[in-house]
Amino acid sequence: MNKQEKPNSITNVLIVGVGGQGVIMVSKVLARLCQRHGFDVKQSEVHGMAKRGGVVFSHVRFGEKIWSPTVSEGNADVLLALEWAEALRWLHYLKPKTGTFIADTQHIVPPFACLKRHRGAEQRYAQETPEEIVSQVAKGYALDATGIATELGNFRVSNTVLLGTLSTALAFDEADWRDTLAELVPPKTIDTNLEAFQKGRDWVEEVKKTPKKEKNTKKPNKIAPYQQQVKIQNDIQQDLIPVITAAWCKGCDICVKMCPERCLKLNTKEVVELVEPERCTGCRICEWLCPDFAIDVVKVPTPLNEEASKSKPASLPETV
Ligand code: SF4
Ligand code: SF4
Repeated sequence: MNKQEKPNSITNVLIVGVGGQGVIMVSKVLARLCQRHGFDVKQSEVHGMAKRGGVVFSHVRFGEKIWSPTVSEGNADVLLALEWAEALRWLHYLKPKTGTFIADTQHIVPPFACLKRHRGAEQRYAQETPEEIVSQVAKGYALDATGIATELGNFRVSNTVLLGTLSTALAFDEADWRDTLAELVPPKTIDTNLEAFQKGRDWVEEVKKTPKKEKNTKKPNKIAPYQQQVKIQNDIQQDLIPVITAAWCKGCDICVKMCPERCLKLNTKEVVELVEPERCTGCRICEWLCPDFAIDVVKVPTPLNEEASKSKPASLPETV
C-alpha cells in the first residue's frame, strides 16, 4: 500500500496497554512504516506519567494529509490492545461497523483492584469474555499473545506477536513490516522479534482456516465503564511472591516506598530484601515500578493456603 494507491483515505490506529508492555514500540514501527510509504503520519502518545504498570496509549493516524494527531471516539479503524481490560476500556473508539479489534487476552489486574489487603483476596476485573467481545465487533481477534511469547522464551515480545496480527489488518507488504521491525528493536532481539511477529501472522491464518461460528446477531450490549466491569476472582494472587535479582538492584528505594504492605526493606548493602513475605499480596507494584527489572513476582511451586499465608512459605524461592 502507498499513498498513490489510497490517495484520499485516512487510517486511524489506536494502540493501548499498560506501562512496560511495549505500546510505544508497536506504534513506532507502524509510524515508521507509514512514513516509508510516503504517508503523512501523526502519532500522539501518553506514557510519561504512566510508569511501569500505568495506562499507556498511542494514536497513529496516516493518510494523504493529517491534521489532528488524535483519533476520536468511534473512529478507530483498528484497536490494538496489549491487555484485556484496556481493550474494553477503549472499545468505544472502534468504528462500530468496520473496525478491527485485536487484543491480548492476558489479564493484568491493577494492584488497587484488590478488595482486601491479604494474600488471595478478592479482586475486581472486567467480566466480558473474548468470545463475547469478538462476536460484537465487525472483525475481532483475541489471542493469548503473552502465552505465545512465553513459549518463544521471552514474554516481553507479546507486543511483537500482536504487531504480527496487526500486519494482517493493514495492507503493507510483509517484508516491509519485517524490515521496519528489525530496524527498531535492539539488535540482539531481532531474531526473537521476527519469530514473534511471524507467530502473530500465523495465528490469524489458523483462525481463518477454522470454520466460523455463527455471528452474534443480538444488539451489542453497551460496554459498561471500566469501573462497572467488575468480577470477583479469588484464585490469582494467592501463590505469588517477589523474587529479587540482587545484582540488578541499585538501591533506589522505589519499591520499598511504594509497596502498600511494607514488605520490602533495603539491607546494609543498599540492596532490597523481602522482609515480610507473609504480608505480601502479590500485587506486583514492586515488579512494575522497579526501573532495573530487579524484581519478578513469580508463582511459588506450592499454592499458599489460609494456614500457610500466616507464616513464611516453606517454598519461598531464594533471592539471587
Ligand atoms: S512486595 Fe511487591 S508484590 Fe508484595 S505486596 Fe509489596 S509491592 Fe506487592
Ligand atoms: S525499585 Fe528496583 S532498583 Fe530500586 S530498590 Fe527496588 S529492586 Fe532495587
